[in-house]
Formats: sequence, C-alpha cells, structure tokens
Amino acid sequence: MRFEVSHVLDAIERRLGTDPALAAGVLDVAELIYCADLDGGRPANLVRLGMVVDALARQVGEEHVSAYCVVDKSLLSNQDLTSNERMVMRRWADDGTVEVAVGAAPRVMEISELTGLPIISRALPAVWSPLPGAGGAVLQPRGPVPPGPSPVGRQLTARWWHCPDPECGSFGPARRGSGQPVPRLRNGQPVCARHDAPLGDAGPRPPQQVLAVRIDGVIRTRFVVTAAGPVVVGRAPDGGQGQTGVQLGPWLNEDARAKVSRAHVSVALTQAGISITDLSMNGTLVRLGGAADGELQLSRGASRQLGVSDIVELFPGVEIGRLGALASSRPVDSASVLGEAPTMAFRPNNPGF
Ligand SMILES: [Zn+2]
Repeated sequence: MRFEVSHVLDAIERRLGTDPALAAGVLDVAELIYCADLDGGRPANLVRLGMVVDALARQVGEEHVSAYCVVDKSLLSNQDLTSNERMVMRRWADDGTVEVAVGAAPRVMEISELTGLPIISRALPAVWSPLPGAGGAVLQPRGPVPPGPSPVGRQLTARWWHCPDPECGSFGPARRGSGQPVPRLRNGQPVCARHDAPLGDAGPRPPQQVLAVRIDGVIRTRFVVTAAGPVVVGRAPDGGQGQTGVQLGPWLNEDARAKVSRAHVSVALTQAGISITDLSMNGTLVRLGGAADGELQLSRGASRQLGVSDIVELFPGVEIGRLGALASSRPVDSASVLGEAPTMAFRPNNPGF
C-alpha cells in the first residue's frame, strides 16, 4: 500500500508548481486535505490534493495544468498526516514544488491578488469550491475570475529575486531562468515566504508569453517562451546546448508520430512578438486568425510572426497557439492524477488509506 500511495503522490507532484504562468489556481493545502467528505476517508489525506488538481484540470479544460499550492509551516509536523506524507511534503517544500508560509490562508489571498490566479477554497473568497462529485471532486463556481495581476504584482514579476538562503527552492539560483513564485510583501518589501527573509533584486526578467499545446482537441500542456531564448516544439526535441524543448511524442498517435519532426518548430519571443520558425521535414501550417483569415504554409527555415489568434498546426490535430487562443473542444479525461491510483485505495473508509 505504501508503494502505491507513493506512486499517487509522485503523480500529484508532477501537477504542482509555483510559477504563476503555468498554474491555473492557488490553494491552501491544509484546508483541502481536511475535506474528508470528498472521499469519506481519514480526517486528513494528502491524496485529496490529487482530487482537487484533477477537478481543476476538468474545470479549465487543460490536461496537465498545475496548481500553486501553499503549505502552512505547521503542516510539516502535523500528526494527522502519515510520516510518509510529511516527508513527501518536506521534499516538495525543499524543491520549491510547493510554497511553505507561516499563515497560508492570507498568503493564498495575496498570491491571487498579485498574480490574478483564481482561489480554490471553501473558506476563503474563492472562484471555485471543491465538492464531492464525479471523479472524486468537482469545482463549483463561487465568484468571478480575477481580471489579472495587480500593478504591484506586475512590477514584482518583472524582476528576478534572490533569497539569502542559498538552498532556497523558491528564490535560489536554480529558479532563475525557469520562472519564480511571486514574493510576499511585508511593509511593502519583497520577502521569501519560506525563509521570511528580505529578497535581493537580481535584475530585470525578460518578457514572457504563455502558449498552449492542443492535441486531438484537448489542451495538454502550457509552456512559456521568454525573450531570453527560443523554445523548440516537436516529437522529441533533444534539448541540447541549454535549449528548452516541449516534447509532444507521448500524446501523438501513430500517424502524427510519423509526420511530426523531432524538432518541428522553434518559438521565439522578439520585440515584434512571437515568431514561429519551421524546422521540420513536412512543414507547418499557420491558420491565420484561427482559420478565419486563411492559411499559410511554412517550409523548413521559414518564419512567421504569430498573430494574437493564429494557430500553428504541426499536423492535423496537433496545434499550438497563445494561451487563450486555444480551448479544449472536448472534455478533459476525468482523472489523470488519480488514474495513477489503484481503485482499491480510493474505496471510502478503506482502513489502510
Ligand atoms: Zn527563501
């Protein structure tokens, strides 16, 4: 049983992150793991986080979307959790997969205000509340989605920050270049929520844009392109020479796998906007304005500025575009995280669980 639970926690881990650009909601872990009515099991259970993340994916129609999770510091020694759950959560905290804060609930509200991320909660002023439902949990709409980051939030996320703790998983050197959480503000000064220490300003962050990958009608993942360097999207980009790559192979059917090149397109952010360069054997189609304004075929080496609602087609049914220009045209499979779980483990009141 322990192994199987660990397997589920690993699946959950892949869907947690503190880069606001890649997350679709923010939540207080301590609150949600006590929602025992979701499964009728023991009072606190970290696996409930998986139910809520799956519900979030269905709600926003993005298969691999992540949740920005805030862990109250007291939870790391909470005796309602198993030692395995506490250990896993400490590892997530050290890696910066989740954010640890003293006072998680006010921090969740601050993150939402600074980043525009919707809150998932029963107790806080939320956009969605988790309730028992099909697939474990459903998110019931409660309030409007925030309009976007606040002006202060925009200023904060336009800089890199560094924490005086060299091991910091949130604002350490490793997080520069790959997205950072948003600093906490104390008396107007940016501080690290984990270490409660003032953050140093490490310079301007390059501008970024968020794009989405849609395969067979479902948004599978998001990725960020920054002015610091292009992102290569394809069946299996090699990621060599410090290159960033988005690997589509696991989502492709046999026909698509035969036609989508290992490195198919390069996506760059320049002063003029997002630029697409074809690198492939079989070419790339750009559907202008989604398709409303016609189509354009790119062959190897050709580039094109991506209009706001243009969609890039690597192969029929394999598409990329700005987040917001693409939507899932069919429901997201109901339980991708808990699909990793043995059904036995989720029988209500299972004593081993
Ligand atoms: Zn820190």
